[in-house]
Amino acid sequence: MSIFSKIAAGEIPSYKVAEDAGHFAFLDINPMAPGHTLVIPRREVDYLFDLSSDEYAELMEFARKVAIKMKKALPCKRIGVAVLGMEVPHAHIHLVPLQSEADMDFRAPKLSLAAEEMKRIADAIAQA
Ligand code: AMP
Repeated sequence: MSIFSKIAAGEIPSYKVAEDAGHFAFLDINPMAPGHTLVIPRREVDYLFDLSSDEYAELMEFARKVAIKMKKALPCKRIGVAVLGMEVPHAHIHLVPLQSEADMDFRAPKLSLAAEEMKRIADAIAQA
């Protein structure tokens, strides 16, 4: 079971943002910007483009709904979208609140936010 499957199953704690029967969204533990969110399919597939076309379309639609909530809840100009998968072998989409391009630099030092702040942000997105 991947670490992200364990998160979606509630076996490992996370700052949950949204979920449905097939998908789960939670805050990245080392965010590039406050509210940086990861969106995953519950089905454990390593590479995003190995999803079936239906699964891919459903994941993107779920991500779209999450991004709309993020835009409402957080002070940002846009929600940036990226897929890397260099670290965790469970397909995931990065959604990053952007004030500028500099907020989406994967090589820049990551933020470390207090647990209460992460919880506050996750709840704000969930309730948006
Ligand atoms: P990548 O696989 O290259 O797209 O990067 C994986 C992302 O998952 C990184 O941004 C990590 O900070 C994030 N990450 C790894 N473990 C956790 C975790 N337990 N909870 C939340 N985010 C995580």
